[in-house]
Amino acid sequence: MTEGHTQDLTLEDAASSAPSQYRGRFAPSPSGPLHFGSLITALASFLDARSHQGKWLVRIDDIDPPREQPGAADSILRCLEAHHLCWDETVFYQRHQTDVYENCLRELQKNDWIYHCNCSRQDLQITPGIYQGRCRDRQSEIQSPYALRLKLYDLPNHVSSEIIEFNDWIQGRQTQNLRTEAGDQIVKRRDGFYAYQLAVVVDDIAQKISHIVRGRDLLDVTARQIYFFELLGSKPPVYAHLPLALMPNGQKLSKQNLAPALDNQQAHLNIWQALHFLDQNPPLELKNSSVDEVLNWAVQNWRMERVGREDRIAFMKEALLQKR
Ligand code: GLU
Repeated sequence: MTEGHTQDLTLEDAASSAPSQYRGRFAPSPSGPLHFGSLITALASFLDARSHQGKWLVRIDDIDPPREQPGAADSILRCLEAHHLCWDETVFYQRHQTDVYENCLRELQKNDWIYHCNCSRQDLQITPGIYQGRCRDRQSEIQSPYALRLKLYDLPNHVSSEIIEFNDWIQGRQTQNLRTEAGDQIVKRRDGFYAYQLAVVVDDIAQKISHIVRGRDLLDVTARQIYFFELLGSKPPVYAHLPLALMPNGQKLSKQNLAPALDNQQAHLNIWQALHFLDQNPPLELKNSSVDEVLNWAVQNWRMERVGREDRIAFMKEALLQKR
C-alpha cells in the first residue's frame, strides 16, 4: 500500500462518499480481554458516531473458533459497559451468519469469481508473499480438502479495476494494486471456516455500516475489502485508520503479545489516557471526573482531524492495568 499526497484531502471528501445515516461499529475478535489498544479503537469509533448523532454498533467477530478464548466475548461486553460505551441495537455475532456467508459464496461461484485451491504451506513458501494464482491456472481437478479463493483481478466478466484508490480520513490518500500487492484471497479456509475478509464485508453490508474507524494494522487489507464491497454491489464505507498503541519495546499492544487487560475499576482514567493518545488534549482536571463526565467532554470535543498518523508508545501507568 502506498501513501499518496494528502494536501487535497478534506474531511468533506471523505464524508461525501458516505451514506446519509452514520452507522459505525466496533468489531472485536473474542481472542482475549480488551486491552488499551482495543479501547482506543472502541472509543474513537464510539465518539465519532456519537459526535455525528449516529449509531454505534458492536459486533463480535467470532468466526475463528481456534483463536477464541472461552468467556472473552462476555468479558469484552462487560468491559465496554464498565467504560459506559453503550451500543445501539443488539450485539451481532458472526457465528450466526454462516448461512449468509455460504449464500454469498454461492453467488460468487456462479459468476466464476472463485476457484478451489489446495496449495499447501510448502507450495506457498516457494513463492512467499503475494499468491501467484497457481491453482487459478491449474487445469486438473483439485482434490479436497481445498480452500476457496476469490479472484481479485482479471475477472471473467470484468467488474472492478485492479487498482484501488481511496481517501483514509486519518492516513490520507491510499492506492493499492490488487494483482501485485494483494493477490487472490482465501474466502473459505480448507478447515471449513470462513475467512475474515469475506465475513467482515458481508456483515458490514448487512449492518449498513457507513464509517469504519479501526487500527492501522488493517489499512493494508482495506483495498481488497473495498473491491469486495464493489463486487457485491455495495458502496464502501468511509475509513479512518488509527495509529497503533505500542509497547515500550516497539511491539504492537495486542492480545497475541499478551497486552494486559483493562482494569474496569479505573474506567475514567483509561478513557482519559485513550483521549490523550488520540491527541484530543483532555484537560488534566478531567482525570478526577466520573466516566460520564469524561465521555461527555469527549463527545463534545471530538475532532478526528486532531488524531495523528504515527504509531506511538502508549503511556500506561501500571496502576491503570489489571495485575496478571
Ligand atoms: N475483528 C477484527 C479484529 O479484532 C477487526 C475487524 C475490523 O475492524 O474490520 O482485529
